[in-house]
Amino acid sequence: MPVSKPRRKNQPSRRLLGHCARCRRACWSDSPDGPRWNAEVRAGQVVGIECPDCQTPEENMEAELKAATLDYRTMTKRADGRTAIAPRGGWHTAVAADHPIVEDKTVHLAAEILDGRLNLAVGPHSDARLHEPFTGAAAQAVRAALAAKEARPGTRTLTFAPMEDFGPDTIVFIEDQAIADDAEDRGELVVCFSPQMNPHLLTAFTPTIADCIRGLLAA
Ligand SMILES: [Zn+2]
Repeated sequence: MPVSKPRRKNQPSRRLLGHCARCRRACWSDSPDGPRWNAEVRAGQVVGIECPDCQTPEENMEAELKAATLDYRTMTKRADGRTAIAPRGGWHTAVAADHPIVEDKTVHLAAEILDGRLNLAVGPHSDARLHEPFTGAAAQAVRAALAAKEARPGTRTLTFAPMEDFGPDTIVFIEDQAIADDAEDRGELVVCFSPQMNPHLLTAFTPTIADCIRGLLAA
């Protein structure tokens, strides 16, 4: 009879985040000195990290400044070997996800920032052109989500509405008759967001859409 090896106890998830560019020391997700590592970021991408021991006093200072603006808890080693870090309250990766609100057939899309990720949820009833308001990685994730759900193109236009009911980290696209007081269908999808919306959500959208939302937030 085959004997199975004793199972390893579940260890808290400990991830290798990268190596110091100078001394090659490993940086682990649970390193106590993690926040003092310095990340060199170019165009939102981490191109290298340096451990506290290898930093000059100026770089130590820079690392502390960055710790105030970057959320090192979201630091993730990506498939291409690079390390990604989200800005505080922001996101570094856009993914197709599920969200219970999209089970309602009048809701076409929900975008939510959670733990350094932008989660994008659609349903099979969603308008298949909904990747168009998004840009970059967010557009790719929406396109993939719509394809996976076999969504079909619709004919609705977009309008925008700040609404008190939404949390700051979520944007939802809802059919107009579902939220309009008169319950009339004007062929619109209403982009709903909190008046206190997390500004990092804006970076997922094309400049035109981001400006529309920004204008309403300032109003
Ligand atoms: Zn080092």
